[in-house]
Amino acid sequence: MNDKFNYIDSIEKKLINYRRDFHKYAESGWSEFRSTSKIIQILEDLGYDLYYGLDIIEPSVVMGRGNDNYVKEQIDRAIKQGASKEIIDKMKGYTGVVAVLDTKIEGPTIAFRFDIDANDVIESTEEDHRPYVEGYCSVNKGMMHACGHDGHAAIGLGLAHTIIRYKKELKGKIKLIFQPAEEGVRGAKAIVHKGVVNDVDYFLTGHLGFNLESGSFAPMTKDFLSTTKIDVEYKGKGSHAGAAPNEGNNALLAASAAVLNIHAIPPHKDGVTRVNVGVLNAGVGRNVIAPNALMKIETRGENSDLNEYVYRKTINILENIANMYDLNIIIKKMGESITVNCDENFSKVIEKEVLQIKEIKNIIPNKILGGSEDASFMMDKVQKKGGKSSYMVFGTKIAAGHHNEKFDFDESVLGTAVKVYTKLLFKFNRKWN
Ligand SMILES: [Zn+2]
Ligand SMILES: [Zn+2]
Repeated sequence: MNDKFNYIDSIEKKLINYRRDFHKYAESGWSEFRSTSKIIQILEDLGYDLYYGLDIIEPSVVMGRGNDNYVKEQIDRAIKQGASKEIIDKMKGYTGVVAVLDTKIEGPTIAFRFDIDANDVIESTEEDHRPYVEGYCSVNKGMMHACGHDGHAAIGLGLAHTIIRYKKELKGKIKLIFQPAEEGVRGAKAIVHKGVVNDVDYFLTGHLGFNLESGSFAPMTKDFLSTTKIDVEYKGKGSHAGAAPNEGNNALLAASAAVLNIHAIPPHKDGVTRVNVGVLNAGVGRNVIAPNALMKIETRGENSDLNEYVYRKTINILENIANMYDLNIIIKKMGESITVNCDENFSKVIEKEVLQIKEIKNIIPNKILGGSEDASFMMDKVQKKGGKSSYMVFGTKIAAGHHNEKFDFDESVLGTAVKVYTKLLFKFNRKWN
């Protein structure tokens, strides 16, 4: 493996440049037109078979995507920032790309998944924030790579280069999935519905950071929370607050009642549940009975049943209060993910392999994630078809917490992660042993 590791060391500068380019042109979920276009150009040059647009995205299960005008604005911006118009035309409004290398030699199908979206965060422009000081701070206001997916995209490209260089030594089929819209858990389900992971025997993905020091590595994670994100609109009737209050249907009062009742849903004896109304906007003017209200709500549970419990209760409250106040209600699902367990035996194999990488100095056997991740849809599908899945964590020193405006990470993790993925690829898909 030393030849591969030396090669990966030799492309470190390239990985950092990729990462900083994605960082500078950060794009939030379902807007990753420039990022996708750049990734496609690189993978095309390397000779992969590429699938994108409606080949990999099922529009009917796409969640939390902006309206057509918003998408058009994002496309125009991306083209101004260097995306290929020709490639974007073929994307049909949907971001993300899957690269396939079929060696035509019998062997397993292995898939690697990298999320590529940024967060809705305004990046810091203070003198202690390296991306600002070194000139690769986001130029797209309100969009920032504050979770490290710029790194994930760069790692995916590093792996793509390494695979092509050593492809004569490989068997089976290799899939590189560059997934849009992980933030808010919106993108993975649409890819799973197109059958992209149906034939996968080994599925690997992961995240950098999460409070693991540089040199630490977790071969598996546990306790993904199952979650559902919804936008809820109440539509009532406006009227004169002084002259005809009885003629209005008050959406603001209804939403207020809903918020208090939702937050009073009892916890469940079987495990962790969460519910949060994070946004409530209502009303149009001081002397008008409020005709409208918008709530952004999320529910979570330690497993899918617990999430379902708190979700059902939430919907029940919302619908009954709408009824009480004579309102119309519109509920839109904006994101969703499920609970999944990594395969323990698979993670033992991973652990044994990565210990041969000198940059990995410390193994955390089972990292608790605590949040939600929509890779869970892919992992679950692979497992149901008899394959193995794992979600790993690559330690790296971070400058601030994930989703913070000063998030940044130690870029040496890029090469280390490419080595981990390469080592595992050669474990399962090496032509000879
Ligand atoms: Zn995140
Ligand atoms: Zn993330």
